[in-house]
Amino acid sequence: MSEVFGVIGAGTMGNGIAQVAARAGFDVVMRDVGQEFLARGMTSIDKSLQRNVDKERLSKDEKRAIMGRIKTTTDIGALSEAVIVVEAVNEDLRVKTEVFRSLDEVTKTDAILASNTSSISITKLGAITKRPDKVIGMHFMNPVPVMKLVEIIRGAATSEETYEKTRALAEKLGKTPLECQDSPGFISNRVLMPMINEAIFALYEGVATRESIDGIMKMGMNHPMGPLTLADFIGLDVCLAIMNVLHDGFGDSKYRPCPLLKRYVDAGWLGKKTGRGFYEY
Ligand code: NAD
Repeated sequence: MSEVFGVIGAGTMGNGIAQVAARAGFDVVMRDVGQEFLARGMTSIDKSLQRNVDKERLSKDEKRAIMGRIKTTTDIGALSEAVIVVEAVNEDLRVKTEVFRSLDEVTKTDAILASNTSSISITKLGAITKRPDKVIGMHFMNPVPVMKLVEIIRGAATSEETYEKTRALAEKLGKTPLECQDSPGFISNRVLMPMINEAIFALYEGVATRESIDGIMKMGMNHPMGPLTLADFIGLDVCLAIMNVLHDGFGDSKYRPCPLLKRYVDAGWLGKKTGRGFYEY
């Protein structure tokens, strides 16, 4: 029997993580709060694997076997046999607190509890549990099946053993783990978000058009997409939330979110997902 890999949340990141874990041979249990979310997650996995079948990177039988290794549930108790659970619920400390409290109760005492959070302190999540030494950050990138990196974040109490096991596990999933300490925004968002925020300031101040800003960064820096397009793709609400984490966490005005970003979020122009952000979709 294969080891059980738990995933909490069947959204954008959760279903991607479930897919790569099942593809690596784990028996996956994916939990969400409603059948509709689980069904949507499974449809995304099906579509993503089908694209691989169409490109002849995967056989139909392999696809069927991968799908067959993913069980869905609304019952958190179904995670009891997991060796690791990766939490990918909404970026909200209250929701994550509830999830970590429950996971600490239902999983085996030696199970690793990982979070895919973009910005919440791993140390704080660890302190919710009775096993802070087994709590770690496993920050996958979107889209999970495509992106190689997993940023591994050590909380203040994370043990060396937990770190080593998590690193090995990320490699088993076909990913490249890179390590960092628990600090606001970790490395990825600490470096990326101020760049995006600065691009928004440049637009706000009328220094250049959105097309020029994106074009300059794309062609001049060899970035695959410009910062404003990337912000729309990530979600402007997510960008604002991360800038607030950096601003609060460091107490440094260099991280203040651009007023234009705040205005767009207030208007509900959150990027691609709402059909309008810096561009129209
Ligand atoms: P999402 O909104 O697509 O999915 C979240 C899912 O969690 C939803 O299906 C929701 O129903 C479910 N959920 C809520 N409460 C739950 C609970 N108690 N138990 C089980 N499921 C629950 O969000 P997402 O974009 O997948 O983000 C998830 C996490 O990953 C966040 O912490 C986010 O910061 C992080 N992250 C996101 C990205 C990205 O590009 N979207 C990249 C890296 C990290």
